[in-house]
Amino acid sequence: MAKYKHTDAASGQGLFLTVNLKEQLLPGTFEYMLNDVLNNKIDLSNFDTNYKNDKTGASAIPPAAMMKLIIYGYSKGLKSSREIGELSKTNIIAKALTEDLEPHWTTIADFISGNNEQFREVFEKVLTYCNELGLIGGKVFAIDGCRLPSNASMELTGTEEELKKRLKIYKTMAERHIERHKRKDKKGEVTAENARHYEERQKKLNQGIEKISAFLENMEKREGRNGKELKSNVTDNESALIHTSKGYIQGYIGLAVSDDKNQVIVSAEAVGSANECEHFPRMLDETNKSIEETGIKKKRKATILADSNYFSEENLRAAEAAGMEAIIPDGDYKKRLGKKEERRYNAADFKHHKGGDYYVCPHGKRLEYKGNTYLRGKEGKEYRANVKDCRACPYFSKCIKRKKDQETMSKGRTLLIMASSEEGSLCMELKKKLNREEYQERYSRRIQIIEPVFSDIAYCKELNRFTLRGRNKVNGQWQLYCIVHNLCKCLKRYNQKKNYA
Ligand code: SF4
Repeated sequence: MAKYKHTDAASGQGLFLTVNLKEQLLPGTFEYMLNDVLNNKIDLSNFDTNYKNDKTGASAIPPAAMMKLIIYGYSKGLKSSREIGELSKTNIIAKALTEDLEPHWTTIADFISGNNEQFREVFEKVLTYCNELGLIGGKVFAIDGCRLPSNASMELTGTEEELKKRLKIYKTMAERHIERHKRKDKKGEVTAENARHYEERQKKLNQGIEKISAFLENMEKREGRNGKELKSNVTDNESALIHTSKGYIQGYIGLAVSDDKNQVIVSAEAVGSANECEHFPRMLDETNKSIEETGIKKKRKATILADSNYFSEENLRAAEAAGMEAIIPDGDYKKRLGKKEERRYNAADFKHHKGGDYYVCPHGKRLEYKGNTYLRGKEGKEYRANVKDCRACPYFSKCIKRKKDQETMSKGRTLLIMASSEEGSLCMELKKKLNREEYQERYSRRIQIIEPVFSDIAYCKELNRFTLRGRNKVNGQWQLYCIVHNLCKCLKRYNQKKNYA
């Protein structure tokens, strides 16, 4: 029979080992680079102003150790402070990065939520380092947003009227809850188990009532561009109700502008808004500022690519002012690319009659002006055809989009003409340019530049929700994730420089 070697370790016997923490960080790995870059390349003295313990008070954990631990935790897909705190106790790499300091999870949580401004500065320093490694092209950029829920309750969202209704429901529920318990108590059906249950439920309902009442007392209504009241949120009023492909979420949009050479993020910001389009001009300014401060050599006419959500006259003007060429398709761009016989009639098929301000459809019927309207935050005019004309029209299936509208035919074809569709506008010029193959090809690069950034952050680093409340804190967390993404981009070039690869 074969004999194999056996040690006491197999039976669970503890071992005394000599561990040199520095030796745990192996050259060529992300943690080795992280340790070197944050110790030697990036100045973290901007955190010093937070500490007032030079004469009295306990010594604090150095910001470098905190940053290394958090970045390492985020890179491993851990986003809660408790998990990162646990990591510093159980993971030898985390111990090596923090020099065995083991910060408590509350210290980590406070550090993440209280250093928004400092993280922005670190983000710029990391960007400067990316530039030193030659990772940034400065020629083509792409912008987009990642819609993520935050630590805000969906249930406590609504207009003033809706929140008042919810408060009423909570109060009724609390009253019924007490009555039900009293009835059970009379019958002697209350056990120790359901008494505890009752107390917990009652506590929750009371907390909900208190929260909504306090919020309604100081509530300032939020208004959208079209003057309509926006929904407020009791738990985090800086977050927004955002539409995603999977329904609505209460959260923030993490905006990022990335460079085409290596998908390095050059500008990042989290916004509590349902409409990312309006943040485009500010993001361009931020990008230019980052480029200036970090010494990136921007090409004379850099290009910025964005999807149709950003298409507006205002944004195109902002890009011009920022010295960039914007390539942003309008909402009908994909339809126009479709085969002619398959596509439905769109605004381009209707002729405007300037004298009377009405449109004439391909069947020769008039669409009258019905008033101004807003679509996805953009202003425009609404025109409508006479329902009798449309009912008798042989082209109605090609003209009226929704199957339900085709069946009911309750109103004539509606035509929305956004301000951007006017002749001579920057939008019209861009629409014409996008009919050319050259521009279509340039625009097709957008997905390759920006989407890998979000897949890296959302899937590889597992950021599927922000764990904080309040715009500043969420913005700090978003900046941290963008720092992690950019540092990961540095690894290959860093190793090549050090001859580790
Ligand atoms: S459906 Fe109405 S608007 Fe459309 S082509 Fe026919 S008549 Fe004109």
